Amino acid sequence: MTETAFDVVVIGAGPGGYVAAIRCAQLGLRTACVDRWVSGDSAPSLGGTCLNVGCIPSKSLLESSERFEAITHEAGAHGIATGAVTIDVEKMQGRKRQIVAELTGGIEALFKANKISFFSGHGTLVKSGHVRVLSKDSSPRDLLARHVILASGSTPIALPGLDVDNERIFDSSGALEFSTVPKTLGIIGAGVIGLELGSVWRRLGASVVILEAQDELLSTADPMIAREAKKQFLKQGLDIRLGCKVTRVTKDAKGCAIYFESAEGVEEIQVERLVVAVGRRPYSDNLLDEGCGLTVDDRGFIPVNASCATELEGVWAIGDLVHGPMLAHKASEEGIAVAEQIATGQGHVDHSLVPWVIYTHPEISWVGATETELKESKTPFTAGIFPFAASGRAKAVGDTAGFAKILAHEDTDRVLGVHIIGPQASELINEATFAMAMEASAEDLARTIHAHPTLGEVLHEAALATARRAIHKVNR
Ligand code: FAD
Ligand code: NAD
Repeated sequence: MTETAFDVVVIGAGPGGYVAAIRCAQLGLRTACVDRWVSGDSAPSLGGTCLNVGCIPSKSLLESSERFEAITHEAGAHGIATGAVTIDVEKMQGRKRQIVAELTGGIEALFKANKISFFSGHGTLVKSGHVRVLSKDSSPRDLLARHVILASGSTPIALPGLDVDNERIFDSSGALEFSTVPKTLGIIGAGVIGLELGSVWRRLGASVVILEAQDELLSTADPMIAREAKKQFLKQGLDIRLGCKVTRVTKDAKGCAIYFESAEGVEEIQVERLVVAVGRRPYSDNLLDEGCGLTVDDRGFIPVNASCATELEGVWAIGDLVHGPMLAHKASEEGIAVAEQIATGQGHVDHSLVPWVIYTHPEISWVGATETELKESKTPFTAGIFPFAASGRAKAVGDTAGFAKILAHEDTDRVLGVHIIGPQASELINEATFAMAMEASAEDLARTIHAHPTLGEVLHEAALATARRAIHKVNR
């Protein structure tokens, strides 16, 4: 066994771990990173879930499928005539694989440039300051370090009795790899993955049924946004059935029979393929040696304080492995904060300002409090709403569904929450998050000159609308 000493060893090279490693190296710490992910050709592939089977491949397919739908249904309105439009799924998948390969390769290059020692294999915390790496190709290695950052991420939740074989029944990774468009696709769970991947395959021609156990769609979103989303998705032909709890699935050579409980009793539908998207759980299999002094909580998360420190001196945990939203940017910010704490004693993440984005069409995004939360906490607020239908830019783009909604404190005018459904909601939310991070008032946003014609003017008008003085709509 080799013993190698570092200042920091990071376990996991997802957006939490690789960002933490780079920031540690920038701050002059001798840094190592251990990751077990390998690609199809058994080569290490950095970037974790996000780059390999998450954010990036899903957005690549969302983009391809959105273009396909736009060419099919919208080109005519611009006077563009096309012949029959077809989709070459293999080519679309090849484009996605290329994007993933370039980005994962980019992280490898960044590791080299920052002199980060990379170990491909499975890391286990033996005790504080001691990580053991097991790999197929070499004997176990012991890495010693003053600090260890655990960033092993998450994995899909399995439903009991449901065997994900990625032939008939798929998890999200399998659903990103389809080489043909299924005629019928069932999805269990109308959460973020169900809606995004359901959108991809519906746009390409599948008939998609999404079964959701809860009675409401997107129950954590602002209720107005969730209602608008439901309206738009149903209009597009996504068959979303709420209050339907899947209890059993059988499969044969032709497809799957899904049995679910609804208000009607036990129902059954047949689909060619089924995707299980019922959430993710922290992944800590063989991460903690029995005697290491650290255990997971009853939901599998590693308990940490507000600074991502575990109860073991010199051991930190970040990203999907700890409580909070399972989002790449949340993982990365925690990685940076922990690196800075190790190097300087200072480092902070404002967990109240983590933006959410759902990359459907229309896109959905939000940051801060929802109207429901403000009512529950009896916070006095005013709401300013402005529709994309009244935006000149949205009309020119041909994408006018949805609105922006700003919630501001009734007395102080401070922005408490921003909720958007509409074109480029994923980009627009960054202005809102920045404004809230600067503790802006709605008046600050209203007095900021927004370029014309831009979609950002919708946020500007929503800010004006909190004081009933929007220009391009009648204020009520
Ligand atoms: P991960 O990205 O899961 O990385 C953990 C890494 O650690 C992996 O490489 C894993 O192999 C490795 N590892 C685990 N255990 C060990 C061990 N013991 N030793 C060595 N290595 C180990 N989030 C967004 O913000 N935006 C999106 O658009 C988005 N889209 C998504 C789409 C899909 C289909 C999915 C599944 C997820 C999506 N997410 C999105 C969520 C996002 O991918 C995760 O929140 C993010 O990747 C978490 O980062 P992480 O670093 O904590 O963990
Ligand atoms: P999710 O928690 O968003 O949704 C899962 C849904 O499945 C829930 O609505 C739940 O009620 C439902 N469900 C659970 N059991 C069921 C059953 N037996 N029958 C019917 N419905 C059932 O989880 P997800 O969609 O799997 O995504 C996992 C996580 O990955 C997300 O929470 C998010 O953190 C991350 N992610 C983020 C993005 C993004 O940021 N755009 C995209 C994809 C994934």
